Amino acid sequence: MFRDTYLENVFNELQQRNANENEFLQAALEVLQSLELVVEKNPHLKKEGIFERLLEPERFIQFRVPWVDDAGNVRVNRGFRVEFNSAVGPYKGGLRFHPSVNASIIKFLGFEQIFKNSLTGLSMGGGKGGSDFNPKGKSDGEVMRFCQSFMSELFRHIGENTDVPAGDIGVGAREIGFLFGQYKKLTNTFTGVLTGKDLSYGGSLFRTQATGFGLCYYVQNMLKKLKNTSLEGKTVVVSGSGNVAIYAAFKATELGAKVVAMSDSNGYVYDKDGIKLDLIKQIKEVKRGRIKEYLNEVGSAKYGENCKDIWNVACDVALPCATQNELDENSAETLIKNGVICVAEGANMPSTANAISKFLEAGIAFGPGKAANAGGVACSGLEMAQNSMRYSWTFEEVDAKIKFIMKNIFEFGYEASKEYGEEGNMVLGSNIAGFLKVCRAMQAQGVV
Ligand code: NDP
Repeated sequence: MFRDTYLENVFNELQQRNANENEFLQAALEVLQSLELVVEKNPHLKKEGIFERLLEPERFIQFRVPWVDDAGNVRVNRGFRVEFNSAVGPYKGGLRFHPSVNASIIKFLGFEQIFKNSLTGLSMGGGKGGSDFNPKGKSDGEVMRFCQSFMSELFRHIGENTDVPAGDIGVGAREIGFLFGQYKKLTNTFTGVLTGKDLSYGGSLFRTQATGFGLCYYVQNMLKKLKNTSLEGKTVVVSGSGNVAIYAAFKATELGAKVVAMSDSNGYVYDKDGIKLDLIKQIKEVKRGRIKEYLNEVGSAKYGENCKDIWNVACDVALPCATQNELDENSAETLIKNGVICVAEGANMPSTANAISKFLEAGIAFGPGKAANAGGVACSGLEMAQNSMRYSWTFEEVDAKIKFIMKNIFEFGYEASKEYGEEGNMVLGSNIAGFLKVCRAMQAQGVV
């Protein structure tokens, strides 16, 4: 698994201490394997315990979240916040509300966030949080009471200069509003402690679009450099139909591509004429409905019950934008067989390790999530800056900054891939580029 016995030992120990945390171990293994060449060039990193420190969160908080449902029953969920690494700035990372959330999911997301935030070039450390609460099917009142209870514990751990959460799966503008209101009430302060806020109280223009648009900016840079082409005229498949997926699909379409399939956790729709994105927005954002309802309006579209089958749809560019491990080795083989030239991850860790190996072996331009989907957190970093200045930039100003940041993220990763002998391997390059900045900051700050 490793050429270097030191890194192998580090990983073995991590496995022993975090048994059963499969997602966290998967994320850690990928990063450690990318860093073998860095260790070979810099053997002193071993003595400095950089990897052991990087893999152990600075703080991991787990708490009870009791709340009362509409029928008057007391319900109990589990809340989490991991404050993984603050070497380059305050902890920053979203909150996820989904029944699958557990310590492993939160730790994998927090660990990835360290490198993603570093790649943006902004001053943000890595963190993540959430709960196994399922907002689906809950009333606004239930969601509000849950958010208030969640914040009643979280507030003591966060702050505008300490830890700044944002949204993720199941946490959008509604939830951020309830969380912010409770934080303000408990602390009697109005600060930029959360990002993803509504524009009326300090949110940034472009935040809603940032991850999806940023993903397409990354893809444009990658296609140009690695394949000498662009999104113009390409057929695209986008999994998911949430925040990231919808805006990735909009931007890809604006850039001249045709998005032919999208999904939700129940199934996928295929529309050979190009998905009607306003209709998807209406179904998923306004009605909070199921993607299957697309067929009520577009009779010629097709629906498949298994969301994973979306990868059987032939395309030039695949953008997995739903959830972790949604694209496995078999799906990767099918995509390659059908002629895919580029895969870029809008979601966090949507491709399994074996799927990534297949893409790299086949010479597919592959953009890993920690680089390709960093537009969202970059925009959150800009929201923090605007809040500190008590000022706001226009949509066009933020868009231009994100475009610039995504270009840099691609180039940092590309240059590192070249320097370390695997030109165009953006997994290796992005992990190395993200790591080196964090590593320098950790070395400068001593053993803390
Ligand atoms: P949302 O909650 O807005 O949307 C998630 C979407 O994925 C929904 O359409 C959901 O369907 C669908 N989905 C969930 N599981 C599956 C599955 N197994 N197969 C197919 N579809 C599925 O979340 P986001 O769009 O915000 O986040 C999506 C991904 O992007 C996550 O991995 C997140 O961590 C990552 N990300 C998000 C950022 C952001 O700014 N929002 C920033 C960077 C990364 P359903 O409606 O049925 O639940």
